[in-house]
Amino acid sequence: MSEIELFVDSNMTKVLIIGAGGVGTVVAHKVAANPVFSEIMLASRTKSKCDAIAEAVGGGRIRTAQVDADSVPELTKLFRQFRPDIVINVALPYQDLTIMDACLECGVNYLDTANYEPRDEAHFEYSWQWAYHDRFREKGLTAILGCGFDPGVSAIFVAYAAKHHFDEIQYLDIVDCNAGNHGMAFATNFNPEINIREVTQKGRYWENGRWVETEPHEIHKPLTYPEIGERESYLIYHEELESLVKHYPSIRRARFWMTFGQEYLTHLRVIQNIGMARIDPIVYNGVEIVPIQFLKAVLPDPKSLGENYHGQTSIGCRIRGVKDGKERTYYIYNNCDHEAAYRETGTQAVSYTTGVPAALGAAMFAKGLWKGAGVYNVEQFDPDPFLAELGPQGLPWVEKFDVDLEVD
Ligand code: NDP
Repeated sequence: MSEIELFVDSNMTKVLIIGAGGVGTVVAHKVAANPVFSEIMLASRTKSKCDAIAEAVGGGRIRTAQVDADSVPELTKLFRQFRPDIVINVALPYQDLTIMDACLECGVNYLDTANYEPRDEAHFEYSWQWAYHDRFREKGLTAILGCGFDPGVSAIFVAYAAKHHFDEIQYLDIVDCNAGNHGMAFATNFNPEINIREVTQKGRYWENGRWVETEPHEIHKPLTYPEIGERESYLIYHEELESLVKHYPSIRRARFWMTFGQEYLTHLRVIQNIGMARIDPIVYNGVEIVPIQFLKAVLPDPKSLGENYHGQTSIGCRIRGVKDGKERTYYIYNNCDHEAAYRETGTQAVSYTTGVPAALGAAMFAKGLWKGAGVYNVEQFDPDPFLAELGPQGLPWVEKFDVDLEVD
C-alpha cells in the first residue's frame, strides 16, 4: 500500500462496462443504482444483449454499444466517443490485454475479475498483466486486477485479516462452496469454456516457498460450510493464490478448495474422455471448430440458470497465524442465496457474487478510496471501506475466531 499514491477525485465518474453476460448483468444493476457514476455505457459483442440488460435495469441510465473487445482499434474508437474514466471488464479473460492496451492508449482506468488467459493454452497467471505496471504508472492510470469474489473478496478478506487480526498469516485456505441446485444434469455457473478450462487443469498449492502440483481433483476432503453442512471439497489451483503469496510472504501454505457434486465430476470426466474439453481446433465437415467452444454452444447459458436455482453459495478464508505471540484461527465468509440474487438482478448467486464486488471496486476508485498509478491486485488497497460497503451492497460477511478450520 505504501507505494500507492492516494488522491481524492470528487468528480462524478463515467463508467464503461464491457461484457453482457451473467456478471455484466449484475454489474449493470449495481452501477446504475450508485449515484457516484454519472454516465454508464454497457458494450459487448452482441448489442441486443446489452439492450435487454439496460431495459431490465430501467431508469434510462445505461447507454449501449457494440464492440469487439479483441480489437484494440474498435475499443479505442469507442473509448474516444464515450470518454469513460474507468472500464469494468467483465467480458472474458482473453480480452484483458487488448482492453488494457486500449486503456493505455486513451488514458482510461481499468478493473477486471479474472486474469489474462491465452486462448490456445489453458494457463492463467498474473505475469502478463503485472508487466503493464510501469506503463500504467507512467500514464498516471490505475488498473485493479481480480475484483470479483474469488479472486476479489477472497483476497480482500485476507488483507482485512492481516490488517486487523494477525501479526503474521501462516496458513491460508480459501474455501468455495456452491450448494445450490439448478435442477439440470450438467451446467456451469459461469462461462462454460472458462469454467471447464479452470477446473480440469492440474491442482497446485503453495507450501514452504514453492508450488506443489497435483493431478486434477487428486486431493479432496469433506469441509463443513455454515448453514449448508458438509460438502466434499477439492483442491484446485486458483489465481489469487499467486498474488497473495507474493504480497503476504509470511504465508507458509496457501490452498484453494472448491466443492463439486459427484454428478458434475462424472460429466466432467466424460467430457474430457471424449475430447469435448479440447481447446485445439479440429476440422468438422470442412469447418474448423474448437470442441470446447462447440460444447459451450450446447450447454445451458449460465445466465438462464437463475430462475430455478435454490440454495446458497458460501465462500471464505480459513486462516491460521499469530497475533501478539499467540496462535489464532479465523474464518471469514459470505453466504449468498441464489433465489435472493435472482429476485434482485435476474441472475444466480455466482454471477451476483462476482458482479457486486466488481461494481463496488469501481465505486472505491470513483470515490478516490482506491487509487494509485500502476497495476494492483485488490489486496494492495485498503480493505476497510470496501468491506464496510459490501454488506449493504448485498454480500454480508461473518467472522469467526478460534474455531476448528478442518484444514490442518
Ligand atoms: P459470460 O460468458 O456469461 O459473458 C461474457 C460476455 O462477454 C458475453 O456477453 C460475451 O458476448 C462477451 N464477450 C466475449 N467475447 C467478447 C469480445 N471479443 N468482445 C466483446 N464482448 C465479448 O461470462 P460471465 O458473465 O459468466 O463471466 C464474465 C467474466 O467474469 C469472465 O471473465 C469470468 O472468468 C469472470 N468471473 C470471475 C469470477 C470471480 O469471482 N472473480 C467468478 C465468475 C466469473 P456474447 O454474449 O456475444 O457471447
